[in-house]
Amino acid sequence: MSLESLTYATASELSSALHTGKISAVELTEACLNAIATHNSEVNAVITLCEDAAIAEAKAADLQLHNGSAGPLTGVPLLHKDIFCTRNVPTTCASKMLRNFIPPYDATVVSRLRTAGTVMLGKTNMDEFAMGSSTETSVFGVTRNPWDLNCVPGGSSGGAAAAVAAGFAPLSTGTDTGGSIRQPASLCGITGLKPTYGRVSRLGIIAFASSLDQAGPMTRTVEDAALMLQAMSGIDAGDSTSADLEVPDFSAGLNQPVAGLRIGVPKEYFSHNLDEQVAKKIHEALDELVKEGAELVDIELPHTEQGIATYYIIAPAEASTNLSRYDGVRFGHRCENPENLNDLYERSRSEGFGEEVQRRILVGTYALSAGFYDAYFKKAQQVRRLISEDFKKAFEHCDVIAGPAAPGTAFPLGAKSDDPLAMYLEDIYTLSVNLAGLPGLSVPAGLINGMPVGLQLIGRAFDETTLLRMGHRFQLRTNHHLARPTMAGANQ
Ligand code: GLN
Repeated sequence: MSLESLTYATASELSSALHTGKISAVELTEACLNAIATHNSEVNAVITLCEDAAIAEAKAADLQLHNGSAGPLTGVPLLHKDIFCTRNVPTTCASKMLRNFIPPYDATVVSRLRTAGTVMLGKTNMDEFAMGSSTETSVFGVTRNPWDLNCVPGGSSGGAAAAVAAGFAPLSTGTDTGGSIRQPASLCGITGLKPTYGRVSRLGIIAFASSLDQAGPMTRTVEDAALMLQAMSGIDAGDSTSADLEVPDFSAGLNQPVAGLRIGVPKEYFSHNLDEQVAKKIHEALDELVKEGAELVDIELPHTEQGIATYYIIAPAEASTNLSRYDGVRFGHRCENPENLNDLYERSRSEGFGEEVQRRILVGTYALSAGFYDAYFKKAQQVRRLISEDFKKAFEHCDVIAGPAAPGTAFPLGAKSDDPLAMYLEDIYTLSVNLAGLPGLSVPAGLINGMPVGLQLIGRAFDETTLLRMGHRFQLRTNHHLARPTMAGANQ
């Protein structure tokens, strides 16, 4: 394995190379740091680099590899989205509000992946407070799509997706409140999994919408997603919404056939909102699964369109309460020379939060206010229930639901920045899954004019195993996940 090709290998390939002594964790970490040094100025996926700490962690991993105490992820480098609290390392949520915030503790996801022996290279760019679908609202500037530097990588975990696509690291973490793992995974040609709500602890993840937020793996392959999910999952006493359920061995079921499994195809996911070429790619992908013996079933998810309005009431409402903690008093940005308490609040928040975050706070506060609560928030909760019931009914007829992850491929930078509604439509196929708390996986399904398309697979609650099995079978059959952007190809 040449040093350059290392940064494009999968975590499982790297794991065997590390375990058989073909490479050391230090060499691998250096190769990743080198790829970042060469290409990050173009992509802007990484906003904090932890070079010295990464080398120290890699040395510790090499010791474990030598003394036989290493696990499957020992020595594998990864990047964390800058929404995860990392002890002694800046955690900004890409906001001026938290620009100087250095957490005193690790998020549970971070500490579990640390315990698993991964090497943290740094933190990735994102939309401010995870609100967005393009990674254009970051205080650190936009992230660019490695497949076309004039296009967005998707969002909000756009830095995480772009970093994996650009060959900076085999693994990154993301969070998904309405699509922020699956949509950027689709637009950057990588694999992204949003687990079932409650599968992964939210402790130490900066809160956006607490009933929707969930962390998950962003990887090259489904096989790697299974490995990473294994390390991330499980009950956490620090998060009362983490599920007290046994965590299955996600890798063990991967090689099971998919013959006999029923794939529900919702007609609402192939409506006028969907780019025709994307629809064609998704149908081709489904044909491959049929060749594996899976059966296609027509299903309905009648409240798909209402999902957008519902999500854009509930998510801002929860965000408005979660973000009330940034008051300029306790932590976060504080304005200069406040005249009184109200001036302190007003100017600290106006200066610290960007435009989209302020828009969400205003919408959310309005929807929760006494006169409008019943008309908006309560109504949205009722529609949320209908959306969950749609999925429940659909799963009486199928084992997995399939469709696109996003309505199109990556769009040019700036194309939707002035039109929040156009941006919100990016999530039409993903956000219902969050409203229902279900797991969703996006896997690469080919290229259109050189830009990636993602196939989304949606599962029953806590049935990541079937999703991963189907995604893995698809990747055994096709090689879409092996395609690389030429920019990163220059690095081989
Ligand atoms: N794009 C959606 C939003 O702006 C989803 C974001 C997310 O999943 N964090 O809210």
